[in-house]
Amino acid sequence: MTPERYQRIRNMLAQRQTDLTVCLENVHKPHNVSAVVRTCDAIGIHKIHAIWEERYGIRRGTAMGSERWVGVDTHRNVGNAIRALKSNDMQVLVTHLSDKAVDFREVDYTRPTAILFGQEKYGATDDAIALCDQEIVIPMVGMVQSLNVSVAAALVLYEAQRQRQNAGMYNKQQLSEAECQRILFEGGYPVLAKVCKARDLPYPPIDGQGNIAADEGWWEKIQAHTNAVASLNA
Ligand code: SAM
Repeated sequence: MTPERYQRIRNMLAQRQTDLTVCLENVHKPHNVSAVVRTCDAIGIHKIHAIWEERYGIRRGTAMGSERWVGVDTHRNVGNAIRALKSNDMQVLVTHLSDKAVDFREVDYTRPTAILFGQEKYGATDDAIALCDQEIVIPMVGMVQSLNVSVAAALVLYEAQRQRQNAGMYNKQQLSEAECQRILFEGGYPVLAKVCKARDLPYPPIDGQGNIAADEGWWEKIQAHTNAVASLNA
């Protein structure tokens, strides 16, 4: 990878907010999932959570293909998802149009936070609402009842980003160096990363210029794989 690409990935990794995430509860339209993930990347979310239950006829992993800079953890049901988030000491907020909900701008997003967004037609389930810590709402004073889910996500996430930036939370790297190395290799050398996965080889270290800093043995194993593939195709 070029030094410029290396630096760009490094800058992105240095600002990832590991204690801020979203949870998509049966949000299933590919363009909505894609738009939410894109906003997550833009504001520095490292990993999102998703529940895609079969009763909604949603295929697992829907629309996640190209968003390789944001990881996704899938859960069988909303209970499992919220328990996992709370076990990481996160406050879990649910976006919901109700009288109990507080204005989304009144919440402290500098705390470890997960924000749950509901299905396009039905919104968040009763189970999700019961298990979450706080309902939040984006005020609506027009004629339409609700916003598109990806628009709602963008508004809430940029409020979280604003608060965290003011608190200096983008100035301190949260990701471990081991996780940065993994992402640098997979992002900078995707073909070699696939070979490593297929051959169960360890990822090599990436140096301060973005070059692979592997020993001879590692390169020999990669070469052996390349030779084997070439002879199969001959
Ligand atoms: N009829 C559904 C309801 O009452 O929840 C509308 C669902 S809305 C189209 C889909 C999702 O977008 C909601 O579950 C919520 O996550 C988010 N959303 C849309 N408008 C919102 C608003 N004004 N406040 C909070 N969340 C909103």
